[in-house]
Amino acid sequence: MERVKSHALLFPYPAQGHINPMMQLANILISRNVLVTFLNTDFNHQRLNPKSTDEIRFESFPDGLPPDHGRTLNIPELCETVQKHGPPNVERILENLKSSSINVPPISFIVADGNFSIFMQQIVHKYGVTWVSFWTPSACGFSAYFHMPLLMDEGYIPIKDEKEIHDQSKDELISCIPEMTALRLKDLPTFMTVTDSADFMFQYFLNAGKSTLQASLNLVNSYEDLEGPVLRDLNTKFSGKVLSIGPLLLSAGDITVNTSVWKEETQCLDWLDEQRVSSVIYVSFGSITVLSDEQLIEFAWGLEASNQPFLWAIRPDLIQGHSALLPLDFMERSKDRGFFVSWAPQSKVLSHPSVGGFLTHSGWNSTIESICAGVPMICWPFFAEQQTNRRFVDQVWKIGFEMPEEVSRENVETLVRKLMNPDDEQMKMMRKNILELRESAIQAGQVGGSSYNNMEKFLRQMLQEA
Ligand code: UDP
Repeated sequence: MERVKSHALLFPYPAQGHINPMMQLANILISRNVLVTFLNTDFNHQRLNPKSTDEIRFESFPDGLPPDHGRTLNIPELCETVQKHGPPNVERILENLKSSSINVPPISFIVADGNFSIFMQQIVHKYGVTWVSFWTPSACGFSAYFHMPLLMDEGYIPIKDEKEIHDQSKDELISCIPEMTALRLKDLPTFMTVTDSADFMFQYFLNAGKSTLQASLNLVNSYEDLEGPVLRDLNTKFSGKVLSIGPLLLSAGDITVNTSVWKEETQCLDWLDEQRVSSVIYVSFGSITVLSDEQLIEFAWGLEASNQPFLWAIRPDLIQGHSALLPLDFMERSKDRGFFVSWAPQSKVLSHPSVGGFLTHSGWNSTIESICAGVPMICWPFFAEQQTNRRFVDQVWKIGFEMPEEVSRENVETLVRKLMNPDDEQMKMMRKNILELRESAIQAGQVGGSSYNNMEKFLRQMLQEA
């Protein structure tokens, strides 16, 4: 390794969808001779079991929760506890490295998850290091959080009544957020569509959105050709300090440390090898979504009725409280067409030629991975800004369908049949749209592309300040 140019502390929110892009960013920093210290909670550190090298050091801290706590199954408690235990541990690391007898330079900049904006300002002020905020959701999700005060002034949030969200007749558009005029109330991130403004997550994101203005830079895992108007609007408010550097997936290179908190079951790739081109629908709801027994059953029978080969990732904790139980007759009927894993090597699955569609919960990583693979989606969001992503997929980029919130086997069957039908005119258009976005995603990361240039700008700024 060439002489280390600088030392960065990377601090992701302790969830799979935040660790993945942070590790992708770590890989890019390493390739530019930046030494990385990657900070996980002890809980994730034990699951990932990564090994420190000369290029990347792993540190961890206790999150204060008991071992059997569901963690991402209770996001408010996870946020609260990390807010309490994260800052003293970041300070401990900064302190240790300042007066270190080990041969490691002090930290010169911290890339912290956007969620941690609420507490980063005090730390960097005390230690004189640069703070970069990394918003791992979409730019449209970030923009929605940032515009919470505006939505409050306009009387949209907090909502008056829970029913407003589910009421189909109340689908009027919220036109006040610039460049996000397709949104309905139900497309706002779920943390803000609550009835009480004192709600913990409401306040959390309200504060995070305000505090992140203080960061030296705000990075987003997106790109100009996808979210240009939203990014430009944000930049008028952040004085040009929002940099889209994605899709990191395409520019990160090979990641050699384990980043999966569940064990990937790669045998599904062999099964995919045996399927026809574009014939398989991949089904996954990410790392946090929880289904009811009824929803699981409706998805199962809908997939069965669609007559389409499917690969379904069913996490051990997909159904809260017990393992997923699929009916025996469903298993029997789908045995030649269905393949089940508990955790898939998702980006490899999506880019496999046999995969032609994705039934997703619209998490940002899943959405961008699908775009990078050119695979159109059926969107069934669970929470957070997934609802906002769904709307953009369906109405703005036109690369997928919204599925009604209430799961029924009939809806699943109809949408899967449509998504996988090569002769459907709307689908032809969607495939064209997503292939164009895929192409522009590739261009964005190449020399001279928008994300490439933004990455260079970020690195220049960090290395100059080091
Ligand atoms: N993922 C995976 N295997 C699975 C399901 C998900 O590798 O079986 C990965 C997926 O590729 C993505 C991440 O887990 O990078 C999930 O992040 P996302 O933002 O889509 O959703 P979240 O889990 O945060 O709800």
